[in-house]
Amino acid sequence: MAALQLALDEISYLLTYSSKRRSVALQIADGKLTVRAPVGVSVAEVNALIARKQSWITKHLSQTQVQHTSDWLKQGCVPLLDQLLPFQVQSASVSGVMLSDGSVIVSMSKRARPTNAKLRQLLTDWYKQQANTWFTERVTFWQREMNLTSAALTIGNWKTKWGYCKSNAELGFNWRLMMAPVWIADYVVVHELAHLRHLNHSEQFWQLVQHYYPRHTDAKRWLKQNQQRLEL
Ligand SMILES: [Zn+2]
Repeated sequence: MAALQLALDEISYLLTYSSKRRSVALQIADGKLTVRAPVGVSVAEVNALIARKQSWITKHLSQTQVQHTSDWLKQGCVPLLDQLLPFQVQSASVSGVMLSDGSVIVSMSKRARPTNAKLRQLLTDWYKQQANTWFTERVTFWQREMNLTSAALTIGNWKTKWGYCKSNAELGFNWRLMMAPVWIADYVVVHELAHLRHLNHSEQFWQLVQHYYPRHTDAKRWLKQNQQRLEL
C-alpha cells in the first residue's frame, strides 16, 4: 500500500491506495485527514473531492483538534525539553518570565489585564529565547559531529513546520520544539543540518540522517502523534 502526504490549500492529508477498495473514503481522526482510495484514482480527482467536501472537512478537523489540544495553562505547568515545570503568575511593575528554583515565574504588569492571551504571549516569548540559546548550542555540537557548516539561525513561529534549511545554509527552528523532549528537538537539528548536504528528502539524505540519528523514524512518529502537546 502506498501513502502520500499531500495538501490542498490549508488542508493537508494522507492519501493511501489499496487494490481492495472500490470507492474513496475520507476519515478524520486526531485532527488529521486520511483519504483512502482505490488504485487508479488520481491526486487531481482526490483534490476535487476534498474541494467539494471542504466545509465538512474543516469543521470536523477543527472539532477533533480542539479536543486534543493540551491545556498546559489550565494544568499550571509547562514542558521545557525533558522537564515539566510548574509556573506561577505574579503581578509586578514589569512583565517578564524567569526560571527560579525549577519554577517558571511569570510577572505580569499591573497595568495590563492578566488574560490567558497575555500569559500565552509572555510564555511564547520566553520559549523563543530558550530556543535561541538551546538550538545555537545543539547546532554547534551537531555540525562539528557531522562536519558541516551552517549560516544564520532563526527561531520561528509556524503551525505546520518544525524547521527549515535554505540553500544559503540558513537554518530555522520552531520554538514549539522547546516543549518536546531533547531527543525530538535533536532529531530536527540533525534533519536540518543534513539538508546542508542534500537539499531534498532523497535516499542519500535519509542515509545521512540515519548515520547520525538512528532513531529518526521514532522521532518522526513522535512528532506526528504529539503535535498537539506542543501548543500553549
Ligand atoms: Zn526536511
